[in-house]
Amino acid sequence: MSIAIQSKLPHVGTTIFTVMSQLANEYGAVNLGQGFPDFMMSAELTGLVDKAMQDGFNQYTHMNGYPPLLTALAAKAANLYGATVDATSEITVTPGGTYAIYTALTTVLQPGDEVILFEPAYDCYIPTIELNKAIAVPIQLEYPNYAIPWDEVKAKISPRTRMIMINSPHNPTGAVMSANDMQILASIVAGTDILILSDEVYEHLIFDGIEHQSILKYHALFERSFVCFSFGKTYHCTGWKLGYCMAPAHLMKEFRKVHQFNCFCCNTPQQVALTTYIQNADAYLQLGTQIQAKRDYFRILMRDTPFTCIPSHGSYFECYSYANFSQVSDKELATTLTKEFGVATIPVSAFYQNDQDNKVLRFCFAKKESTLEKAVEGLKRL
Ligand code: PMP
Ligand code: GLN
Repeated sequence: MSIAIQSKLPHVGTTIFTVMSQLANEYGAVNLGQGFPDFMMSAELTGLVDKAMQDGFNQYTHMNGYPPLLTALAAKAANLYGATVDATSEITVTPGGTYAIYTALTTVLQPGDEVILFEPAYDCYIPTIELNKAIAVPIQLEYPNYAIPWDEVKAKISPRTRMIMINSPHNPTGAVMSANDMQILASIVAGTDILILSDEVYEHLIFDGIEHQSILKYHALFERSFVCFSFGKTYHCTGWKLGYCMAPAHLMKEFRKVHQFNCFCCNTPQQVALTTYIQNADAYLQLGTQIQAKRDYFRILMRDTPFTCIPSHGSYFECYSYANFSQVSDKELATTLTKEFGVATIPVSAFYQNDQDNKVLRFCFAKKESTLEKAVEGLKRL
């Protein structure tokens, strides 16, 4: 006999990333769907993890994070963004950026609270809001430049608005927020009790000479924010599932109450290794240039296919429209491309609550040149 339970997420299926990666494996397709690099991470960093284990760093570390790593992260925030973030009371290391987002939302949301977010939206946002019995208020970014329609944001704010979620550089579109966007956001929330969750996992993956507008640069905004980061994205090790959250002490105190009974503390040897490796600022400062070269190379290759580029300025991703050559749904095209053309992508409708289909696919270009070449060879048959 199977005992019935009431689903907390009755409308949720399996995440599109798993669905497309599984299909890619099944059909032996090149996987430009799920966002992960197919090239090796730094050998120096893996060596440092090995050394940390040999040196005996194999037991629980502090629940907030390995203290010297927290100090290094506070120094990084000060150097890069001029932010004063207290290492002991305002940073917590988490098992990935997703967990940081989950914990921040779970820390603050009460049933009936409204959360404004922008679609296409990274797929964990809405289910996490709903698990907390809060209400997602999605606002669609303007197509095709994916800018934030601020007038609509102002119109959607209500007495129940508890939080606004932002994500720059943006997944899936690669759009980036400008200093002007940040100023508008600051003016909208000033004098309210609206919190902000800023998903900055792609902070260093930013191109075209654009400067990342971290919440950490804006003191008035940071005072009401949870800022979420991922070592997985910065150091090409998505499988490490390690990240961190920064928030002012009074918010972080509550965040830690949730965190301590969920995972308690994260992987110790990786944190010890990162404490040393993070001192090498070049490793993250050069990242934008390195990954932009991949975006540019992919863009050139894609000119030999019928797709139309929707320019990305950051992240691992670039979106391409196919409206000029097919009217099938993006999910159908993504499936056909995987099965018949040997290339897996992500249909962007998966990032909209109403499955809005602008005939756009997301491609992950954080791959070896040979992988990108092989994928485009397949797409040229279209
Ligand atoms: N936010 C965005 C926008 C992402 O693309 C990702 C995925 N990598 C995450 C959060 C989660 O990062 P992590 O893998 O560290 O959980
Ligand atoms: N962030 C990655 C992406 O957007 C995937 C993460 C995941 O599979 N959950 O593709």
